[in-house]
Amino acid sequence: MQTNPFDDDKLHEECGIFGIFGTSDAAANTVLGLHALQHRGQEAAGIVAYNEGRFNSHRALGHVAPNFSSEKVIRELPGDSAIGHVRYSTSGGTLLRNVQPIYADLELGGIALAHNGNLTNARHIRDELVAKGSIFQSTMDTEVITHLVALSRKTTVVDRVVDALKQVEGAYALVALTPKKLIGVRDPWGVRPLVLGNLKGAPILASETCALDIMGADFVRDVEPGELIVIDAEGIHSHHPFPPVQRRFCIFEYIYFARPDSQVEGLSVYESRKRIGAELARLNPVDADVVIPVPDSGVPAAIGYAAESKIPFELGIIRNHYVGRTFIEPTDQIRHLGVKLKHNANRAYIEGKRVILVDDSIVRGTTSTKIVEMVRDAGAKEVHMRIASPPTTHSCFYGVDTPERGKLLAATHTIEEMTKFIKADSLAFLDMAGLYRAMGKPARDPLKPAFCDACFSGDYPIGLTDEVNRGTRGPRQLTLLAETA
Ligand code: SF4
Repeated sequence: MQTNPFDDDKLHEECGIFGIFGTSDAAANTVLGLHALQHRGQEAAGIVAYNEGRFNSHRALGHVAPNFSSEKVIRELPGDSAIGHVRYSTSGGTLLRNVQPIYADLELGGIALAHNGNLTNARHIRDELVAKGSIFQSTMDTEVITHLVALSRKTTVVDRVVDALKQVEGAYALVALTPKKLIGVRDPWGVRPLVLGNLKGAPILASETCALDIMGADFVRDVEPGELIVIDAEGIHSHHPFPPVQRRFCIFEYIYFARPDSQVEGLSVYESRKRIGAELARLNPVDADVVIPVPDSGVPAAIGYAAESKIPFELGIIRNHYVGRTFIEPTDQIRHLGVKLKHNANRAYIEGKRVILVDDSIVRGTTSTKIVEMVRDAGAKEVHMRIASPPTTHSCFYGVDTPERGKLLAATHTIEEMTKFIKADSLAFLDMAGLYRAMGKPARDPLKPAFCDACFSGDYPIGLTDEVNRGTRGPRQLTLLAETA
């Protein structure tokens, strides 16, 4: 895992993926899909399309719009099937050679592959393969899958993909394109999302339903945890090649990562966030004059908090959407400036008021500190921070860019200390029981939790081979630390 130097104190999703099969404008539709998935990764984007015996690709650093808007680029990607990827690097760093989809010419033909998630034994496998003579072109964990597919002795490409995936551990949703097939897979725990859609008869695989909505495609269903879908000229074939395990979808997708207009695993993200806000209000009420979200991700939870508490909701902080991440230099001084560039207090709704600020999470605490300061400077009488998730005490190893544990404010501070750190009058979090209630679960079953919630609980559902090998604490020890934190 690598932390991005431009980190602005939010957690970042690693990637978004998209694939479409059997339509004459596959690349153009893939561009649309990637536009809708841009929130899942802003550092790079890529598309591979297949046409009459040839794979064509275009990959670039930066956003989708400046790199894929020209007709020339689309003309260079002919064909009726394509896959695409938007990337936020947690594994591999931001270099063009690390931009997906990756492509390889194998014994059974070409294959392009795009992956969302993080393989937790990629380093281990890679070291073994390099020792045997394999040559890697990138530093991405995804390339490990390509090598394992290449080395498999199975007789079909689908069986080779399955063979490869049985050797990796970690969280993944992936799409693969061969001359005749589009393949989609979710890991057995189903940590990362993947949905199946349909555009006038052309099947689509995408990280979120918002990528279907943008082109008027129909949502068909979620790809099941551990399910492998093969799409070819004969239709859609579903396989379940892995032994079943307890499903553990990433609960943070509902709190922050997924787009609020997406439906994830049968639930509306927007509705879930409003229910989370209502639970937060029931659990942590405070006498105040106004509920203000930290935009944009705090907005639905703040609406839920305001409705439940019957305290007026106002957009007391306005976000400037035109500040590019690349503008923010990785120094403390400029980070401080960065927050003021991105947010401005809407003074008329703050001055003289007792303010409840609602945000989705606290990572390092730097953004919260600056936001509280900004609201005080705008004349707030009191500032009460309410967080729409439990304290983030653990790093994610499943494809979300989090700082190492020691840099997470909640891992090293009590709530009282955190309140002082961010200089709020009070600070309170949603607890795990409230979070599960908001997600429609009566309680968190400690033996079989319905979600991955490891960044709050330290209960990592999937092995962390590379972390353990690195000499850091294993998952069980991390859990014990969580219990005493
Ligand atoms: Fe999601 Fe947290 Fe689990 Fe990572 S550790 S997959 S962010 S719930």
